[in-house]
Amino acid sequence: MADNVMRKITDNLLKVYNYAFLEDTTYGFYKPNEAMYVGVRMTAKQYNCPKCGRAFTVDIRNDNDGILYFSKERIGEQKQVYERLGLDFPADWELMEKPYTYQLIGYCADCARRELGDSEDVGQRINNLCHELYLQDMLVSDKARQYMTDAVQHWLDGIHEAEELTRFDLANPEVLQELIWIMVLSDTEACEQALQDYRDALQPVLYELGTLLEKATPAWKAYTARSSSLPESMSDGEYHEYTLAFPADDTVGQDFYFKKSVEKARAEMFIRQPRINSIQDLLADAGFQEKWLDMVMDKANELTR
Ligand SMILES: [Zn+2]
Repeated sequence: MADNVMRKITDNLLKVYNYAFLEDTTYGFYKPNEAMYVGVRMTAKQYNCPKCGRAFTVDIRNDNDGILYFSKERIGEQKQVYERLGLDFPADWELMEKPYTYQLIGYCADCARRELGDSEDVGQRINNLCHELYLQDMLVSDKARQYMTDAVQHWLDGIHEAEELTRFDLANPEVLQELIWIMVLSDTEACEQALQDYRDALQPVLYELGTLLEKATPAWKAYTARSSSLPESMSDGEYHEYTLAFPADDTVGQDFYFKKSVEKARAEMFIRQPRINSIQDLLADAGFQEKWLDMVMDKANELTR
């Protein structure tokens, strides 16, 4: 059982959140043609915060021989961003030949907190609260995963005789898994507290969202957080493997804020998704972790040595 198979509720929330607040393109299977796209040797992207002036650079993975395809509109936008930043945009022939840095202007997380955190604009406030909701959804699941691992560790810490483990058929994965689950289910106090904290955090957020959505227009423009570790399409409307810029694998995910259109119906869809509602939901969603098997086997080996 892989770790990621079990997280049904949080995986769903993550997908719907991305759909509601981040995604604006659809996937297409075709090779870009020269009439619509420009090949660019993109090696990095740089986030420029307009408030504090700091710049953050992310390396781009070297796929497709290092060439990514930009829509002509995107090239036009990049020229404007370069100009705003006081940079010289490369000549046409240089785009394919020389390393290109994609430039973005967006608030860093620190500045976003100061600039947008107290915004009374209805759309911005909805975005902020939905982001808070999303962070809480992920937090409770992450906490549960940690506390369940702690429960396994507490159980193992209390074992001092090899016999306490070896009397079970540890070579049988089903037996081992069931044994661990029983131990995890008998030590859920920390998870129950995390669930209570989650409920307490959600209640005022959901209440305020309810009143804001009554006032909201069918769509609005407001700043939305986007992680620097997500792939990004270099073409609007449609994307495919030739237009997607993937950050290098070791990229640290940092949020940057960009103004985007949000549809009320999508925001409502995110808010109405099923959420973790009981301790059973939480434990099932956090799921069995493969590393627990290793923890038990290591302990058994240590005691029989
Ligand atoms: Zn900043």
